[in-house]
Amino acid sequence: MIMPEVGPAGQQRLKEARVLCIGAGGLGSPAALYLAAAGVGQLGLVDFDEVDLSNLQRQILHGTKDIGRKKLDSARDRLRDVNPTIDIETHDCRFTGENALEIVSRYDLVVDGSDNFPTRYLSNDVCVFARKPNVYGSVFRFDGQSTVFAPHLGGPCYRCLFPEPPAPGSVPNCAQAGVLGVLPGIVGSIQANEALKLILGVGTPLIGRLLYFDALKMKFREFNLRRDPQCPVCGDSPTITQPIDYEQFCGVSTNMIPTISVRELKQKLDAHEKFQLVDVREPLEHEIASIGGARLIPLGELPGRLSELDREQLTIVHCHSGQRSAQAVRLMREAGFANVFNLEGGIAKWSDEIDSDVPQY
Ligand SMILES: [Zn+2]
Repeated sequence: MIMPEVGPAGQQRLKEARVLCIGAGGLGSPAALYLAAAGVGQLGLVDFDEVDLSNLQRQILHGTKDIGRKKLDSARDRLRDVNPTIDIETHDCRFTGENALEIVSRYDLVVDGSDNFPTRYLSNDVCVFARKPNVYGSVFRFDGQSTVFAPHLGGPCYRCLFPEPPAPGSVPNCAQAGVLGVLPGIVGSIQANEALKLILGVGTPLIGRLLYFDALKMKFREFNLRRDPQCPVCGDSPTITQPIDYEQFCGVSTNMIPTISVRELKQKLDAHEKFQLVDVREPLEHEIASIGGARLIPLGELPGRLSELDREQLTIVHCHSGQRSAQAVRLMREAGFANVFNLEGGIAKWSDEIDSDVPQY
């Protein structure tokens, strides 16, 4: 309140503001903490996940006492502790094409802290439809980026930059690729900063500019972004005017992928059944934790190494949590493997339910 750019009137604006954070994870943690601390009067969180030990290195809303709890419950407790005078609205669900517009319509702006492409496209599209600024952030290992998508205020949307999603499985998320814990701290704080500026109407928002951060070189770079007049969502004659099927658009739908449970795998191993167990994670992950007898073929090498596998034999594919292996199963089925299954929940579930000696990471 003591800053002339804010003052009592600005503080009142913050109190009246409604901000939705998509995800209570690495980016959502610092963003929500600072927004709550700043006195944003209504803070919404949408998440469906539970706190896992492996989250705590970066998801600072949560602590060891919260492991196994809903992230939303843990986040609400922590944010209430920071500021008991604000309203915290929790949306305990996946953010989907069915509910996104309804949820977003209750807020003034969105802070997108999601870690996957279907949610990013969805969050982008509904924010364009509803004319709400979408404060974007993403992190990968030592690199981060942030911008504000708000075509109604100028600048492009996410689709102007990335009209097509990347090939399924080609860009791993934080849990798969790893991220320096402080990085989402920095990028999530930048998102909170942009959200506060937009609410207060001060400074120059990151609209039409992408801020790129390299933590190893400690360099910030800025790129100018332009709106694409041909953009299907924010262009001059939009062709997409309501939410689509984003899982299908991004090719990550796992609906049709045949699966096998960790229990079934355990039974087969105990019974010494003959089958191939393929691990499609990266060598470093295989070194940290592996299931006995699994053969390592990283997903990126799989297309060129299919000849190493027996097409007729039962094949079970696993990764860390089941996403990459689902892509592998799809790829192998398309290549003519008829008897191939995805291990549901991956090695993480194996460690949880079958063999706790296999380390969690
Ligand atoms: Zn656009």
